[in-house]
Amino acid sequence: MGLRVFNTMGMRKEEFVPLREGEVRIYACGPTVYDFIHIGNARAFVVADVIRRYLEYKGFRVIFVSNITDIDDKMIRRSQEMGLSLQQLGEIYSDAYFEDISALNIKKPNISPRATQHIPEIIEAIRKLIEKGYAYQVDGDVYFDVTKFEGYGKLSGNKMEALEMGARIEVNPKKRNPADFALWKAQKEGEPGWHSPWGWGRPGWHIECSTMAMKYLGETIDIHMGGKDLIFPHHENEIAQAEALTGKTFARYWLHNEWLTVEGEKMSKSLGNFITVRDALKMYSPQVLRFFLISAHYRSPVDFNKENLRVAKTNFERITNSLERLLSLKERAEKKGDEDALLLEVKEAKKRFEEAMDDDFNTPLAIAAIFDIVKAINTYADRNSEIESSVKNEVYEIMKTLMEGILGIRVEVERKDAGQALLVNSLVELILEIRHEMRRRKDWKMADEIRERLQALGFIIEDTPQGTKWRLRRE
Ligand code: AMP
Ligand code: ZN
Repeated sequence: MGLRVFNTMGMRKEEFVPLREGEVRIYACGPTVYDFIHIGNARAFVVADVIRRYLEYKGFRVIFVSNITDIDDKMIRRSQEMGLSLQQLGEIYSDAYFEDISALNIKKPNISPRATQHIPEIIEAIRKLIEKGYAYQVDGDVYFDVTKFEGYGKLSGNKMEALEMGARIEVNPKKRNPADFALWKAQKEGEPGWHSPWGWGRPGWHIECSTMAMKYLGETIDIHMGGKDLIFPHHENEIAQAEALTGKTFARYWLHNEWLTVEGEKMSKSLGNFITVRDALKMYSPQVLRFFLISAHYRSPVDFNKENLRVAKTNFERITNSLERLLSLKERAEKKGDEDALLLEVKEAKKRFEEAMDDDFNTPLAIAAIFDIVKAINTYADRNSEIESSVKNEVYEIMKTLMEGILGIRVEVERKDAGQALLVNSLVELILEIRHEMRRRKDWKMADEIRERLQALGFIIEDTPQGTKWRLRRE
């Protein structure tokens, strides 16, 4: 069976069929670069990254665009607080964003367009919306008239009456309807602005995304993603703008991730319960953080707490330990043991991994399939000390592809084969013999230094009446 995804538009799982055969065009809403990203934002970016990697694994050519919002109220406020220009602020935090996503092994988007570098295209889109009768200008502001777009509310399921009621709380006499939203905002005192047919001002947030998505991916894109807070109003408004302009479906599949929570509440800047990716990486390795982030299905919440991270760490170690065991099996030229059974189990587990991912990217089930491989390796290693070389390589490569290639979790285990271990033993014995000779010659200083240097490398050295003993320290 092929890939099925849960489409927020229609709220059901559907078969995934891209617009152009063999190619998938994805737009994922990116960060507003006024501060470091937190681990909740990272969840949205890791989810998108795993989806992208899996589509690539399935053989699609993926074009992945994720924007950088470098103009909005928060950007303006923060730049004023920090005494920086908007551009300086944007550069500092977009550099930090790229560093953070790279630390989490998130693949760089193919294109990362910035709103401030697309002002002419945005102005043109607004101009056309006015021309087509979907938008209107009032005192240098431009608003989208939601009553003119028939499908308004179709993504979020919000009924127009409810929207009008809700929006009435914030009374803006310039709007024709309370639910209308700004496409262009007239410049206020002390704020940055760009020249436009409606005077100096700046674009609204929603028009940035739909304009840049269509510029780089065409009028109809395959997948549009983001956290579930973006369903309304952001994505609803993007649809209204884009479809009013083109008359075509803007995005075929809408995918939204659930919250990363702290004690059950959404992690967010405004609640103050956030932890930046940088700080989280001081406590946990990127592998453990990623493993934790995908341990829940993307449409279920995941709680950031010590216990969940401890579990992620233990589980990740179970995987690397089994790979270490696999790699330390001595290689031989032919199959003499349980190689066929091992390979069969591993290949079946790989199939289960793919089935789980094909079912709306079910990462917890996919991870369960990985643990079936772990079990098969451990059972084999319990019973055998040798393995035929090509089987060893195949099992190792399958694990690498699933863990690193698709889930993006590096499994850096040393290829410690038996030959290498022997070589290490002989070298340590040789060094200890030299040290013994030094002690015989009463060169205590040099002998002590050798012991210290070996200890620094992780060897435990004990001088006993029966001679010098050594072993490797286990972390
Ligand atoms: P922002 O910079 O606030 O626009 O957020 C960037 C992305 O992170 C958006 O897709 C948000 O929906 C997503 N996001 C923000 N907070 C969380 C959270 N606590 N859990 C999951 N996703 C989040
Ligand atoms: Zn967006």
